Amino acid sequence: MKQFAVIGLGRFGTSVAMTLSKMGYQVFATDIDEERVNDIVEHVTHAVTLDALDEHALKSIGIRNFDVVVVAIGKEVQASILVTVMLKELGVNKVVAKAQSELHGKVLERVGADKVIFPERDMGIKVASALVSKNVMDQISLSPEYSLVEMVAPPKLVNKSLEKSGARQNYGITVLAIRRGGEMIISPNASQVIEEGDILVVIGKTERLQYFDTVEV
Ligand code: ATP
Repeated sequence: MKQFAVIGLGRFGTSVAMTLSKMGYQVFATDIDEERVNDIVEHVTHAVTLDALDEHALKSIGIRNFDVVVVAIGKEVQASILVTVMLKELGVNKVVAKAQSELHGKVLERVGADKVIFPERDMGIKVASALVSKNVMDQISLSPEYSLVEMVAPPKLVNKSLEKSGARQNYGITVLAIRRGGEMIISPNASQVIEEGDILVVIGKTERLQYFDTVEV
């Protein structure tokens, strides 16, 4: 089973560590602030107080043996960059780092972060999309261009087959699955009729998905 280490136990790092732990993964959590470590100690496999800028401390906990190390230091931009560099130099396989800004993200990528995440920006996009959206329940950005969306079937599509709905022909959107009550219809065929209350799992260009959602079909 994958082993994770989380460095920095602010709101984000704590949430990542606790969620992984609840999912049954082994989680090593660390922060320079003893109080933050004490708050999480009962919820993760191991929690210790250390300064992640101290290379010897990182070596002594065997940091390179973790499959994924999450650098969840935000405000201390310099520390987040230096820790990322150090982790890669120490041979950590996958470093996921949290960025505060686009520039911070670019630097993290340059210094070797395997994945850079922008929690505040991404959550802002999600919340804004949900506010203007009529039907979208959840959205995952797959690339800068494409998204996977879970949405309540737009009323205009109800009682129409997928083929007649125009989703693919007019919007380039593919319906991957339909959730109907407790049932999941995977890879529905073109003749499948959409019913009121159906939840559609669709994939397509983000821009066109937004159009599909907000414009009467
Ligand atoms: P969040 O938004 O998730 O609450 P944040 O953006 O406020 O976090 P920071 O407070 O900068 O992020 O950092 C998160 C945590 O990282 C803090 O608990 C801080 O003590 C810890 N931290 C900062 N520098 C180091 C370091 N050198 N070694 C270990 N932990 C550190």
